[in-house]
Amino acid sequence: MDKQILLMTGPTGMPDRVIHAMNQQVISHRGADFSAISKKLGENLKTIFQTKNDVLTLTSSGTGAMEAAVQNCFTAGDEVVVAVLGVFSERMAKICETYQLRVKRVCAASGEVVTPSQVLAAMTPETRGVFVVHNESATGVRSDIKAFGEAIAKTDALLVVDSVSAMGAMELRMDAWGADIVFTSAQKALMGPPGLALIALSDRAWARTETVKTPTFYFDLKAARCIHQIGQHPWTPAVFSVLSLYEATCMILEEGLQAVYDRHIRLSNLVIDGMAELGVPLYPKNRSDASITVNTFALENSPAFVKRLAQEYGIVISGGQDDLNATTFRVGTMGYVSESDVVAFLHAAKQILGA
Ligand SMILES: *Cc1c(COP(=O)(O)O)cnc(C)c1O
Repeated sequence: MDKQILLMTGPTGMPDRVIHAMNQQVISHRGADFSAISKKLGENLKTIFQTKNDVLTLTSSGTGAMEAAVQNCFTAGDEVVVAVLGVFSERMAKICETYQLRVKRVCAASGEVVTPSQVLAAMTPETRGVFVVHNESATGVRSDIKAFGEAIAKTDALLVVDSVSAMGAMELRMDAWGADIVFTSAQKALMGPPGLALIALSDRAWARTETVKTPTFYFDLKAARCIHQIGQHPWTPAVFSVLSLYEATCMILEEGLQAVYDRHIRLSNLVIDGMAELGVPLYPKNRSDASITVNTFALENSPAFVKRLAQEYGIVISGGQDDLNATTFRVGTMGYVSESDVVAFLHAAKQILGA
């Protein structure tokens, strides 16, 4: 079977318009045509991030933006608190340790979240940053970023948000909610190709960059900001990815941000309710914390289910992450996913699991 239905957790499927934007002769990243698109991409991303500050495009995956956040805004010895919900938020803690920050982990039980009050309890007057994942793609839970923003605003710590599997699907009002550093990747809810990370800093975070002593070169955000205004990048960016991501962001804004958020909620509910009817429970302990982009379910022998879906129905979902591989599976409803894709998945799941 060649036609596939993609319900993955990233990279996600891309609309034809996004694919076609790549299908052209290369253009110079120093030329006027590229600069014009790059500037328009920046404007679209500001709308999507809901920030007045620049959203910088880095040629790396989302993990590069995580590292950029640490290099540009923290110095060895700084105390930071990391809310650890799973593999991806643990990665932030590991990067912080790589740069010799003093990391305090606040760990949730698998499938649960960390609350702002738990983080506040771990903070001291010395705490320079709080790292929170918006949507933990490993366990399928989401954090209340607005509540974290309110809690952290009264402190001197910067609120760093990994919104890699949420930005463009789940609401995040960067400025209004008081997030200081927000980053994402192109290849998840934004429907772009892999290869770009997007990062924005608040005024408070930009001020912090002036005092930081960590060396940085490739990910020097100050250098990137200097020429961002003219639609340029310090180094050769992933030109084709920029062209494609621009189209993807246009599609998101044409649909309308609120409509896009609503669609994600609708599709997630459809998957979760449909699986409940088949007796397959969510992996997250509380449905109110459950992700609406990476719907994660508990199922014994889940790899066999994932394999049969792909082989017999051409429906590609994601297996469980790391130690959850044998007992969970994940259905991505982020980005370029339609109701008919979800209905097809539920139909196939019923055939496989109903037997
Ligand atoms: C995918 C993902 C990442 C890593 O992004 P890459 O682009 O693969 O480096 C980080 N955090 C979360 C929550 C993710 O889902």
